Amino acid sequence: MRVVVTRNPATGEELATYDAHDEAGVEAALAAVHAASQVWGATPLDDRLGLLRGVGKRLSERREEYAALITAEMGKPLAEALGEVDKCAWNCEVVADLATGWLADHEIESSASRSWLSYEPVGVVFAVMPWNFPFWQVLRFACAALAAGNAALLKHSPDVTGCALAIEDLFADAGQDVGCPTGLFRSLVVAAEDVPAVSRRVVEDPRVAAVTLTGSERAGSAIASIAGAAIKKSVLELGGSDPFVVLADADVPLAAATAVKARFTNTGQSCVCAKRFIVHEDVADEFVERFVDHMALLEISPMAREDLRDAVVRQVEESVAQGARLVTGGKAIDGPGWYVEPTLLTDVEPGMTAFVEETFGPVATVTRARDDDHAVELANATTFGLGASVWGSSEHALAVGRRVRSGALFVNAMVASDPRLPFGGIGRSGYGRELSAEGVREFTNVRTMVVS
Ligand code: NDP
Repeated sequence: MRVVVTRNPATGEELATYDAHDEAGVEAALAAVHAASQVWGATPLDDRLGLLRGVGKRLSERREEYAALITAEMGKPLAEALGEVDKCAWNCEVVADLATGWLADHEIESSASRSWLSYEPVGVVFAVMPWNFPFWQVLRFACAALAAGNAALLKHSPDVTGCALAIEDLFADAGQDVGCPTGLFRSLVVAAEDVPAVSRRVVEDPRVAAVTLTGSERAGSAIASIAGAAIKKSVLELGGSDPFVVLADADVPLAAATAVKARFTNTGQSCVCAKRFIVHEDVADEFVERFVDHMALLEISPMAREDLRDAVVRQVEESVAQGARLVTGGKAIDGPGWYVEPTLLTDVEPGMTAFVEETFGPVATVTRARDDDHAVELANATTFGLGASVWGSSEHALAVGRRVRSGALFVNAMVASDPRLPFGGIGRSGYGRELSAEGVREFTNVRTMVVS
């Protein structure tokens, strides 16, 4: 029997060992989730939304327990873990309140006596999820998929197997209150060496209708290729190297304070963390000075894994060798756990590692812009396109922001997801949308209905 071992990133110590599913276990999960999808798809929408209310209520009741598990498995500060659980509960409420409108028939005038779009379930959705927001990434997808009448099969990151199983229990428990079919939400525990084969086997299985993945480009490309070959829909939420553009007329103290939050939340391990600070040269010195002051107040927390920590340190070292200036930080912290000093690099230019690659850790880069055109050129000099944040007087910042390519633009605010607003990227940040009406409809059959 293969196993999955979880470790505490703050100490490196082992937390728990889980038996991985073998082929019989995978088959049993697939059969259960498929059977549940048949019942659930025919369950009235109100009852489906009742499940989400029950899930939200339990998330609020058990917030401390779940937050402690998140912190133990992936290392984020407890306050941020509590915030993550609360946001999941909020998402449940928002979907339960608004999905009736999002999934209502959409009438379209035509020459028929009635024509409309009907949003119908597709069946089983397979989700491959990462460790950085172990509850949020899953609840974000699952609330949408289940509201739409689908069932969910999760392959979570092995680093957060305890969270994966806790979420499975959460749905099973809340499901009992509303007479929900057992097996509606299942977690697969997959040993590292089996991930490619099991993922292929699941995606290709005729009982699975569609796939969603949040993670790296490498994983996204692997899963979406298999889904494409099997002619199944996929949604990809991949990385980002979001620009945070500070124009000459920006409120620099506010921009700098927000910038530190936007970069270092979740120890920098978020796809929508601001990663490239592009600052007009007239205000760059003041911005850097204030940024460093705010950095000094950061609570240091570990990165989720040793290899992720080493990858970030390599990116810093390469960038310095390429000519970037190390203002502060830059090294792994000695001792137990996988800590990196909060790091600031300035004089970062296109082509340098920290500008080209996604920096998934506590590393900020500053690049000076000569003028607005140069700022736009720098912001767009990336293969990614998730979020963009632009700072300046409102009209000015909006005009500049419109010229930056991204899935979301935030003017005078940091990029953050909100259950009422769609979320997703362009380019190598992926495709499709999560959250809001667009997210709920991603995994529906948008069925054209015509009555003569
Ligand atoms: P991965 O993309 O490897 O992991 C994300 C999920 O994908 C995990 O469940 C992982 O499982 C799975 N996965 C990986 N390869 C395959 C495959 N071939 N088939 C099926 N599933 C697969 O991310 P890492 O944890 O290795 O992080 C690497 C980088 O990815 C980060 O530094 C960051 O740049 C980016 N990333 C982006 C995230 C985002 O929010 N957009 C989240 C996490 C990472 P397993 O671990 O078992 O391989």
